Parts: sequence; structure tokens; C-alpha cells
Amino acid sequence: MAEKHVWLEGELIPADQARVSVFDHGLLYGDGVFEGIRAYGGRVFKLHSHLTRLFDGAGRINLKINWTPEQLAEAIRQTLAANDLPSGYVRLCVTRGVGTLGLNPYLCDRSCTFVIADSITLYPAEMYEKGMPIITAATIRNHPRALDPAVKSLNYLNNIRAKMEAIQADVPEALMLNHEGYVAECTGDNIFLVRDGVLRTPPLSAGLLPGITRACVIDLARAEGIDVVEEDLMLQQFLDADEVLLTGTAAEIVPVTRIDDHVIADGNPGSITTRLTAAFRDLLTHAPED
Ligand code: PMP
Repeated sequence: MAEKHVWLEGELIPADQARVSVFDHGLLYGDGVFEGIRAYGGRVFKLHSHLTRLFDGAGRINLKINWTPEQLAEAIRQTLAANDLPSGYVRLCVTRGVGTLGLNPYLCDRSCTFVIADSITLYPAEMYEKGMPIITAATIRNHPRALDPAVKSLNYLNNIRAKMEAIQADVPEALMLNHEGYVAECTGDNIFLVRDGVLRTPPLSAGLLPGITRACVIDLARAEGIDVVEEDLMLQQFLDADEVLLTGTAAEIVPVTRIDDHVIADGNPGSITTRLTAAFRDLLTHAPED
């Protein structure tokens, strides 16, 4: 199939015919959940973790997914194959479905599930070599009691506000603080620092998405004998760090070498970031699907 195809509610259809109703609450209210997933060399990376997070998030907003995890795993494989993408990026979305113009989600008939597969280059290649500049956003991350950050919801306005600040400052990412002033995460990536050989990252209680790459990097670091601490961190600790790095499915691992006007350490990616990146690449090429 040369033409692009989308898996929509059980069928692979040409991408230009894939339609969702304007009455879908996913569009009207951002009511739904999604996952961004990657495949490398014909293997879907951390598929089980992504499906678990999707179903868990859906459960937290009482959204019924009409497909089993096994069916969705198969849908992902079919979509990658149909688009001839042994390596690529997959977007799996579940919207609340068609309803009335009111908020009531229980009046929506049936949730709608679709899978898109494409290629993705999130950040310029040279930033992986030389490091990325980021800013601190004035927009704070949603209060966890306003919207549970463990729900990867279709409403990304909070992050989009901060992303606009980044674009305005001509950098690709923005660090977001939480309601208490601690660092939470970036607009589409989790954040870590290294100081005196210890890897530190904000805990889930700081109000961040439980990133799958974050969890993977924590495991890799521990396997490498690097101490990892999850604790509330102040912006100043990032500015004073020896290394700062971002993690995400699309981003993978990115060294950060400047925050606002502050250069991190000597302005070059650090050795622990380089080690973790090598371990991560090794995992992508050798680890079996899980
Ligand atoms: N935080 C936010 C807000 C995200 O949207 C993402 C995913 N792009 C991440 C962190 C990273 O999560 P993951 O490693 O699961 O992609």
C-alpha cells in the first residue's frame, strides 16, 4: 500500500478518508486519551507500557475503550505495516465519541479509536550532539487536582501555552514549574539533572506525566550503577547541575545545555547523558518487545 493508511475503529482506510465527527467530544472538549509510541526496526518499543498507561488513563476519566489491549497491539502493527514503516511513530487516540453539545460524557454513544503511523523528527539532529537550549515557562503545569497528569488526555492546552512561550523565545522546549514552584516537566518531555554523579528527577507527585522513557532511563541508570533519586527539585538545582537531560518517546534522550540565559556546566553534553544515550540506543536495537 503506497498510500497512507489509518486504522479507524477496526478498519484500515486511506488516510484522506479517515474522518471523526465534529460532534465528537474529543474535538469539542478534548475529552479522550492518547499515546505516542515508537517502533524501531519492526519492533514496537515498550508497547505494553503504552497500552497500560492508555487503559489506566481512560479508567481515570471513566472512558470505555471498546478494544482489548491485544486488539490495539495488532492495530498498531497493522498500521505500521500498511504504511511500510518498520521504524516510525504511532499515534493511538481514543476519543469520547459523538454526543450532544453539552459536557455530559455519558450521553456519547461510543468511544472512537484510531491509529496513525508516520515518521517523526522532533528536534534538530545537532541538538543531540551539542545540546539544546530551553526556557522556563511562565505558564505553570496544571494542578494535579485540576487534571490528573497521569491521564495523557487529548487536552494539551496547558502544555501548548508553555510551548508557545518556547517558540517565542526561539527554543524547542520549555521547563514547567508546578503550583508549588518545583520543577514538574517540560511541555512534551520529562526532565532530569545530574549532580555529583547522581541522577535526579521530579517525583510523579510533582504533577507530571509518568513518562515511559523516564521510567526506562531510571532503570537503565540503575543497571549502569548510577544512583537515581526522585524528589522535588527547584529550578536553581537545574541551573547548578553538572548535566540536564530530557526524555520522551519522540525526543528519546536530549542533552540540555542552556536554561534561559544560564549555561549548564561547561555548555556541553555531559558524560552520564552520553552513557545513558548509548545504553538507550542499545536497548532499542537489542531488547525484545515487551
Ligand atoms: N511529559 C509530557 C507532557 C508528554 O506529553 C510526554 C510525551 N510526549 C512526556 C512527558 C514523555 O513521556 P513518554 O516518555 O512516555 O513519551
